[in-house]
Amino acid sequence: MGANRHMSANPGGRFTPEAACAIVPSSESPAGSRPHNTISMRRTSLMQEPVLVLNATYEPINVTAVRRAMVLMLKGVAQAEELHNAEVHSAAHAHKVPSVIRLLAYRHIPQQSRALSRKNILLRDRNTCQFCGGVFPSSELTLDHVVPRSRGGRSSWENLVACCYQCNNNKGDRTPEEAGLKLARRPRPFTLHTSRQLMRLIGHRDERWRKYLFY
Ligand SMILES: [Zn+2]
Repeated sequence: MGANRHMSANPGGRFTPEAACAIVPSSESPAGSRPHNTISMRRTSLMQEPVLVLNATYEPINVTAVRRAMVLMLKGVAQAEELHNAEVHSAAHAHKVPSVIRLLAYRHIPQQSRALSRKNILLRDRNTCQFCGGVFPSSELTLDHVVPRSRGGRSSWENLVACCYQCNNNKGDRTPEEAGLKLARRPRPFTLHTSRQLMRLIGHRDERWRKYLFY
């Protein structure tokens, strides 16, 4: 694999912007502007595969999709550290698909950079109702204020949990103790530790991620 390790798909060296155009699937480009788009439909799911993003220091900082990772590489922002055994083909070239990329410039990541949002709370709680332990699709979960808002409970990482509609109804305007419910675990802010756990989960089937996630 050696020669391909750093993604020099062009014999001469770096990717070119022209190659970038050919890689971006048609769904992201104006109709008719990509006459030579040769990415077949079966490649669409490959473009959504997760890619581990490392900081310049090799610290894992994020998970993105193949499509976005390849754009970062084409822009010269990142380089591939590990590759899938798969390729996408543009008009002129075959491009190896990254599994792990690394940013070329160090990026400062604040300890708690995750925004407090419904999406991130469901992610933190892994789509698991924190009262009954059931795992649900996002559409069947709501956010519960552990201490109800009517009782002064705030909208914070420590007071919001994923909750199924049935438990939410059962709990009503009460604290968990009053409702006879028990939290699966104490809600905490989304920390780098949480993120790394999620990265491990997502990357579980890709052993190329392991050495970066300290398995
Ligand atoms: Zn529940």
